[in-house]
Amino acid sequence: NHECTDVIVVLGASGDLAKKKIYPTLWWLYKDGLIPKHIQIIGYARSKLTITDLKNRTQPHFKATPEEKAQLDGFWKVNWYVAGSYDKGDDYQKLNKEITKFEKPGKKVNRLFYLALPPSVYEPVTKNIRENCMAIGDGWTRVIVEKPFGHDSESSAKLSNHLSELFKEEEIYRIDHYLGKEMVQNLMVLRFGNRIFSPLWNRDNIASVIISFKEPFGTQGRGGYFDEFGIIRDVMQNHLLQILSLVAMEKPVSTGAEDIRDEKVKVLKCIQQLKLEDVVLGQYVGDPEGETEDSRLGYLDDPTVPDGSVTPTFALATLQIKNERWEGVPFMLRCGKALNERKTEVRVQFRDVPGDIFPEGAIQRNELIIRVQPGEAVYLKMMAKKPGMSIDCEESELDLTYGSRYRGVTLRDAYERLILDAFVGSQIHFVRSDELAEAWRIFTPVLHQVEREKPKPITYKYGSRGPREADDFLTKSGFKYTGTYKWTNPH
Ligand code: NAP
Ligand code: NAP
Repeated sequence: NHECTDVIVVLGASGDLAKKKIYPTLWWLYKDGLIPKHIQIIGYARSKLTITDLKNRTQPHFKATPEEKAQLDGFWKVNWYVAGSYDKGDDYQKLNKEITKFEKPGKKVNRLFYLALPPSVYEPVTKNIRENCMAIGDGWTRVIVEKPFGHDSESSAKLSNHLSELFKEEEIYRIDHYLGKEMVQNLMVLRFGNRIFSPLWNRDNIASVIISFKEPFGTQGRGGYFDEFGIIRDVMQNHLLQILSLVAMEKPVSTGAEDIRDEKVKVLKCIQQLKLEDVVLGQYVGDPEGETEDSRLGYLDDPTVPDGSVTPTFALATLQIKNERWEGVPFMLRCGKALNERKTEVRVQFRDVPGDIFPEGAIQRNELIIRVQPGEAVYLKMMAKKPGMSIDCEESELDLTYGSRYRGVTLRDAYERLILDAFVGSQIHFVRSDELAEAWRIFTPVLHQVEREKPKPITYKYGSRGPREADDFLTKSGFKYTGTYKWTNPH
């Protein structure tokens, strides 16, 4: 639209997130013509940078090819930079002046502010944006906020109240980048677009749900930051709980953002507060026989981690959803660092076949697995007759592997989808304030208890599947693992 210019202001442009994610994402969207044609990008931070400095920092992360040189030049021509503090109105006036440059009579200018900043400055920054940099006329103003959104119910409510005094909820975009992932977005379609799943999606047929996040590396010398949060705040309370709400919610009235978020809030409200006895906490130790330097080091060997820290690097938690659909079905959230592999998945395990006619132990439970990363896939473990003369049963699968079914299709990065959503004003994949409050309600008591009582986490070896106690806990909660399923990769 020629009548409109979109300005994105990256606050904290000198930082790590800006370098690795935001500028590369803006470039990808720009080169593919996805962001508005009349985009202008303004970096803002205290560091006195030139556009050349910014380019030298960020461009190595663009993965641009030599053929894209002309386009790259075009991209940098719409980039600007303003140096200023985070708490002085005058500096924001300077920023506002830079934005106003693009305002011509009859031309609408929209403003998107991306807070790529440490949370300690969110309050002054948003206040100053509100006081100095709001769009005029019929242009819109939107603010993207990065996690962490507080560290417990109280601090999160304080931040939410602060933001709500300055902006309307439809102007606030709280990013949880898991909501931008292809397979997380796919949950809606899988669940509500398939007659074969919807009638089974309840306590009568589903025995348990496990949502896992596994990372194969430790803190690698950056544990100081992690130690203040721990794995529950870093991954479980946000990413895994968001996935849970999409797996467990009722069918929304429509695919509109408010209808979906209403259902997510509703199901979160049915979840009881987590208790310490429903949690297994772990912390990794080095593997003396590990092949890499990193793998021989435990969490406490990271020089940035305080001595004797009891911060968990692994957690398994069972949540109960007290509603008609789910009562009694354990939803297990499991996440950890320094494990044997990288993966994020949802595993829905169905109940045993009633009135089984086959020899004992021949039939295993069905499982539906939604593999979020890496190697996006949906597969359904099911029983089939073993090919041949006998009627032996065998575990097999229906397998939708994106890499082969959608060969040559590049799946867009989560940040690309989310920044684009913010431009077009779609809040489906952003966290609403009442959702956030519910998420903290569930986890705050246990987080505080852990901080007070400092229970010693169970140690597990770097590169293992986590503490053995976690498997025992899964079994106790009704998850059945037989180890009989064998998969040969046909792709
Ligand atoms: P960062 O590099 O530490 O900070 C961004 C910029 O903020 C810095 O370049 C610095 O710019 C300014 N800054 C740093 N510390 C400050 C302080 N104490 N007071 C005032 N200004 C300060 O942070 P980041 O890694 O980019 O992360 C930004 C936000 O995104 C955080 O909320 C983080 O939790 C979130 N996040 C980051 C990642 C990631 O991959 N890095 C992933 C998910 C979420 P100047 O000194 O030039 O002003
Ligand atoms: P599986 O080997 O039967 O494992 C099922 C679950 O049991 C996993 O969640 C696993 O946890 C857990 N588990 C493993 N050992 C355990 C133990 N000793 N006690 C308790 N639980 C245990 O089935 P699968 O993992 O679904 O599939 C096997 C392999 O085939 C995987 O590598 C999978 O990626 C691959 N596969 C890929 C595709 C595809 O890409 N399209 C399709 C089908 C299968 P952990 O998560 O901790 O390991």
